[in-house]
Amino acid sequence: MEQREKKMKIRKLYKFENAHIVRGCTSRRCSESIHGHSYKVELIFASDHLDRGQMVYDFGLTKLTIKELIDSFDHAITLWSGDDPGYLRDMKKWSRRWVELPVSPSAEQYARVIFLMVELVLNNTVTVNNEKNVTIDSVIVHETDTGYAMASRADAHSEIMGKIDLAKIAFSEGVKEEWSDPEIWEKLLRGEKIVNPKKI
Ligand SMILES: [Zn+2]
Repeated sequence: MEQREKKMKIRKLYKFENAHIVRGCTSRRCSESIHGHSYKVELIFASDHLDRGQMVYDFGLTKLTIKELIDSFDHAITLWSGDDPGYLRDMKKWSRRWVELPVSPSAEQYARVIFLMVELVLNNTVTVNNEKNVTIDSVIVHETDTGYAMASRADAHSEIMGKIDLAKIAFSEGVKEEWSDPEIWEKLLRGEKIVNPKKI
């Protein structure tokens, strides 16, 4: 019998408002018209250890880089790099805040992309309060009140669904200038470490 991983899990909820088109989907309203959703994103973190505060990972730490990166999508339009070049050009011209993904902005791909983004942050974070083995376990993206997509590690890295290259995600200047470090994404991609603050 498969041994179930015994890890404690914590969950943090984020919210953002975003516009998109999902090309190729069955629903005409989704595939043919720009529209928006009030997204809710649940991050499930896991560990088999507790830190000095007897926590898996202080919720305060999830409000730093991880929150800033997810907030990139707020009041922004999310574009798929495979969309019509004229559409991409116009959206970038008329919206100061945009994010371009190498995949379509369906709830499923959002869950996979955000999983990989959070994983990148955690892999490059130096913890200072004895946190150990903290991983992102799963990501749930609620597109509406009634529909969500959930990605596990296997889903996020699935070759069957298509490998996602994080280096192909582009954030507009209007997004980056609101980060506490406008170069944080480039630094993370280069493998530069983020040291957690001792106190927030
Ligand atoms: Zn939609």
